Amino acid sequence: MIIGQGIDAQVISDVTRLAERRPEFIDVVLTPAEREVFDVRKGKHQMEFLAGRFSIKEAYSKAIGTGIGSEAHWHDMEVLPNEAGQPVMVKHPKQDEAVAHISISHTGDTVHSSVILESLASLHQPVSERRPSWLEISAEALAHNVAYVRELTETNRFFAVVKANAYGHGLPQIVTAAKRAGVDGFAVATIDEGVWLRQFGVKLPILILGVTPATYVADLAKYDLIPVVASETWLDDALRQLKPEATLTVSVAVDTGMGRIGIRNRAELERVVAKLNATDDVVFQGIGMHFATADGNDTVYFEKQLAKWHELTDKLDLPADIWRHLANSGTSLWHEQPSTDAVRVGAAMYGFDASQGALPNRELQPVLSLKAELVHVKQVPAGTSISYGATYTTTEPEWIGTVPVGYADGYPRALQGMDVLLPDGRRAELVGRIAMDQFMIRLPEEMPVGTVVTLIGQVGDEEITLVDLANKMDTIPYEIATGLSPRLPRHLVK
Ligand SMILES: *Cc1c(COP(=O)(O)O)cnc(C)c1O
Repeated sequence: MIIGQGIDAQVISDVTRLAERRPEFIDVVLTPAEREVFDVRKGKHQMEFLAGRFSIKEAYSKAIGTGIGSEAHWHDMEVLPNEAGQPVMVKHPKQDEAVAHISISHTGDTVHSSVILESLASLHQPVSERRPSWLEISAEALAHNVAYVRELTETNRFFAVVKANAYGHGLPQIVTAAKRAGVDGFAVATIDEGVWLRQFGVKLPILILGVTPATYVADLAKYDLIPVVASETWLDDALRQLKPEATLTVSVAVDTGMGRIGIRNRAELERVVAKLNATDDVVFQGIGMHFATADGNDTVYFEKQLAKWHELTDKLDLPADIWRHLANSGTSLWHEQPSTDAVRVGAAMYGFDASQGALPNRELQPVLSLKAELVHVKQVPAGTSISYGATYTTTEPEWIGTVPVGYADGYPRALQGMDVLLPDGRRAELVGRIAMDQFMIRLPEEMPVGTVVTLIGQVGDEEITLVDLANKMDTIPYEIATGLSPRLPRHLVK
């Protein structure tokens, strides 16, 4: 993914004049290694080299959206000839995040240059593109769900939860759609997920919901990520390792009955709050908790957790502008809001029913569809067995279609016997075992190779949801969604 681009042009004779009048200018622009190259060049070539370095560094500062001297200084960037004599940016301020593709050319007395910054995240993650099975991610459905939850909760901040490759939906696609939908921030589970978001160019606040080992505090500060303070010990460790010039923004996790992470007693919480208030290098931005039963129909435990929250946090000496964030999807959809500062919403944003039908239906739209083209179609006589283990044998002549999706794509073996939707909304049953990369369906009649079948999604009035798959497997839709493998291409559609 391209995260920045810049162009620049300089007049070579102007640069030459500047260098003659102020020879120290040469060493302002050139690093010692560049100066060595400059020194062996002669006459016109020497000045072309200097003007080229001057210009490409200007172009770079435009690519990152600042002028020279704020985020990029002359010596932070180094452009040297490679073995073929082509200029390569061997050092630059964003090298942890991006590759700088550069080009310098001369026409007459002018040198032109351009810089394109390509995110390393997209280079490191293998992207599946050439496959007749894919996920469609609906930007409109996501925008609808975000607006719907906003209206229902009257929240001031909507944090889009995008942990685990955006619940399997695909991080780049969901981040693009969520930014368009105007979310106020993102929440992830791990520090690397947060770093990837920064590498995608996300400038919004990013909460890390899981505990980040305090050893990574330098990166937390560098990437401006908001870790949870889940204990006083963690805070002490983190503050000890925080460099004097760095600033860390944090959110405190309070355990009111989830029993996972967070501070469970008032005395420890008061000490943590006092330390945070007393430390200039820390921005005390948030305090939150997590409900264990918000998507179930018994509200007793929910109320108990809420009471515990008040017991632990009421009258604490908190900053006036702190964000209190308590609500996940279940809390947002089915409860009176405990706070309007911020919600952390995953399932509802993706449009699946976290309660699996236990609580009243909400007007959410599923964001994800899983589709595939038939890659093989054949008619077989009665008595033909299909797939591993020969668990299915035809009893009459049948049309069998092969679907290029398997358990390695996150369509589990236990879904044997499930249905898929044909283009006209009719259902076709999976027959035989699901293999690693393929399974077979029984077709009502001959159909051409290339026919699109829907494994998850809607066709006309018929629909197969993540919840249907989860119910069949006796699990939750979250597990099905997060299991969808990176081998499936993700297409962001309208
Ligand atoms: C995953 C998670 C969420 C999002 O939950 P949904 O049910 O998908 O909305 C919110 N808060 C915390 C702490 C989480 O771990």
